[in-house]
Amino acid sequence: MTGGRLVAAQRLLVEDEVLAPGWLRIADATVVGLGAGEPPGPATTTIDGTVVPGFVDLHCHGGGGHEFTDPDVAHVRAALAFHAARGNAATMLSLVTAPADELLAQVRRLAPLVRAGEAPGIHLEGPWLARSRCGAQDPRYLRPPDPAEIDALLEAGEGTVAMVTIAPELDGALDAIDRLTAAGVVVAIGHTDADYAQTRAAIDRGATVATHLFNGMRPLHHRDPGPVLALLDDERVVVELIGDGVHLDPRLVSSIVSAVGAARAALVSDAMAAAGMPDGSYRLGSLAVTVGDGVARLRDGGAIAGGTGTMADLVERYLVGSPAGDAALRDVVALSSGTPAGVLGRADLGRLTVGSAGAYAVL
Ligand SMILES: [Zn+2]
Repeated sequence: MTGGRLVAAQRLLVEDEVLAPGWLRIADATVVGLGAGEPPGPATTTIDGTVVPGFVDLHCHGGGGHEFTDPDVAHVRAALAFHAARGNAATMLSLVTAPADELLAQVRRLAPLVRAGEAPGIHLEGPWLARSRCGAQDPRYLRPPDPAEIDALLEAGEGTVAMVTIAPELDGALDAIDRLTAAGVVVAIGHTDADYAQTRAAIDRGATVATHLFNGMRPLHHRDPGPVLALLDDERVVVELIGDGVHLDPRLVSSIVSAVGAARAALVSDAMAAAGMPDGSYRLGSLAVTVGDGVARLRDGGAIAGGTGTMADLVERYLVGSPAGDAALRDVVALSSGTPAGVLGRADLGRLTVGSAGAYAVL
């Protein structure tokens, strides 16, 4: 194979090995060749840095001034392009709580983009969440899970709803988890006031992800360990961490990764429209948001309303706080691509190898 684009990299992370230098050949958005040393021909692109697999963001609402709830899909595509230009190989289309007919319309609008391979799936973050832990979700539209609504949303998505966040203590939540997992949907626990036992019950029924661990859930207490410890304790669960320095103390992020390992933790941006944009007024779903000093907060009440960092920002922040070396590099690649790709069951993402996706990021 000699066609396609030939990328020469100062350093290239392939599986667990760092090739320095290394090269990649990419054709039709797929890696068709790679190796150590100088490239076997004139390079199309030369990179002074470390080439790693493109990031996989499991939790994102928009970016670059655009939101995924925009009725005009050109804006959805612009947000996806914003993140792709910053190293994402895959960006989940996360939707916040909305009235039933609106949510159905949003799913119908986004499904063709997923089917076309422009995004890995739709993530419903709501409406089946706890009122007391709603964060930046509009409490007017929160409701207990209703089997008919679940079926209608899954049908509207025709297989493109990839993930659902649910509060397991709600009436009917465990049955909803059965319904969702039977349809192949990844069930995440979040925006919840569940206790340890309720969380464990949800994991036993098939929940496998913690939606932004710590944020939007009953906090860890030494006599009431709640969802946080139940999610950390269980090998079946991958925990999302918004490692942007705003949602979580950076020392907590590194400590959690040391405790559970990078194979069980995923960095997520939870980015909203203001990612990559100046401070000002924005929206998250139906709610008005003000961004000041890069922190997005609801105009009413001041709850943190999503992130303004990109996956690349989170990765950079993580590396700054880590000891230099290949171990930290391997960890951050797992956190930003390998582990989230595994959550989605995507063997073509999260690694650079012949046959994998050709999207890469540079560190
Ligand atoms: Zn979110």
